[in-house]
Amino acid sequence: MQPIDRIREDVRDFTPYAPGLSMEEIRERYGLSRIVKLASNENPLGASPLVKRVLGRKADQVFRYPRAGNPALTAALAAFHGVPQACVVAGNGSDEVIDLLVRLTCRPGRDNVVAFSPCFSIYVQQTRLCGVTLRQPALGPDFAFDLPALAGACDDDTALVFLTNPDNPSGHAVPAEAVVALARSLPPRALLVVDEAYVEFAEPAAEYSMLARFGECDNVVVLRTFSKLYGLAGLRLGFGVMPEWLADYMLRVRLPFSVNLMAEAAGLAALEDTAFVAASLETVHRGRELLAGKLAGLGCRVFPSQANFLMFTPPHPAAELFEALLRRGIIVRGLKSYGLPGLLRVSIGNDEENDLFVAAMKDICDHGF
Ligand code: PMP
Repeated sequence: MQPIDRIREDVRDFTPYAPGLSMEEIRERYGLSRIVKLASNENPLGASPLVKRVLGRKADQVFRYPRAGNPALTAALAAFHGVPQACVVAGNGSDEVIDLLVRLTCRPGRDNVVAFSPCFSIYVQQTRLCGVTLRQPALGPDFAFDLPALAGACDDDTALVFLTNPDNPSGHAVPAEAVVALARSLPPRALLVVDEAYVEFAEPAAEYSMLARFGECDNVVVLRTFSKLYGLAGLRLGFGVMPEWLADYMLRVRLPFSVNLMAEAAGLAALEDTAFVAASLETVHRGRELLAGKLAGLGCRVFPSQANFLMFTPPHPAAELFEALLRRGIIVRGLKSYGLPGLLRVSIGNDEENDLFVAAMKDICDHGF
């Protein structure tokens, strides 16, 4: 027997998540002293000073297990967002909540899941791993949501409908009003999963977020993450707000300690550090406007974004521009894996990073690759 014979046939063509070259590799390959990473939509101000202090103090507790189900964190999140604690489930990143939703609700070989094409890669991977069909209606013109097409792709065996609002990689978003209408139009079994990883960056966020309207729909799950606005991507912390019956089952199957002691302490501190959150939002809003203007001025087609990144069609071939930026120490995100080889996505950085990115773009546009 060959080792491969022990692996399920339907997962043999999976490839590892490809984050590209590391900052170290790029520094060495091109002999650069400074690297600017604007590829993963992380917080432009780094980590909160309060979070760093709390993590330092917490270090001598790491020999202890966290409390199963992270009740201190779910209580704080429930109070912060005005939702019942019994509806909140924390996860090892919102990635974990996505994985659990699929495994908990989808019947392998029978059910289907619906999400736009293109969509966040984790929806695709986890549904395939679960042996469930993914139906992917196309986005409308200019990456707008064709919500009737999303509802139209559902049937009585649709377990989940994923909507990323604001969307990744385009930044397009629709107000919560439209999401509520979509939820009401779905077949009875289908749960609408609204992935709000970037919603805090929308303006005004209250108009776009489903959390304030959570009580209005009994078939909606809202996903949030600490990886973006709260600057905790490396610690892995996200959560879902869902109907109580679903949260109950999710906590029965979730690995008890998937949210570790440091992540939980960091999440609690991050919610407290309102000054850091306000500064992060201000930096992203200002940087988004600045970069959109500068990119347009350089001949790029910039798509309107409510997130902490901008998607754009450059005036030069995207793959060559990507490489030319790398040679200058700037890492952006190519969108070939989303099926969009002509487009690039850049995360909003801090003021200095944005200036370096714009200077590199200008150099390339003025003097060639
Ligand atoms: N959903 C979307 C749309 C994302 O872009 C991301 C981050 N790449 C996630 C979920 C996952 O976030 P987390 O780091 O909390 O797993």
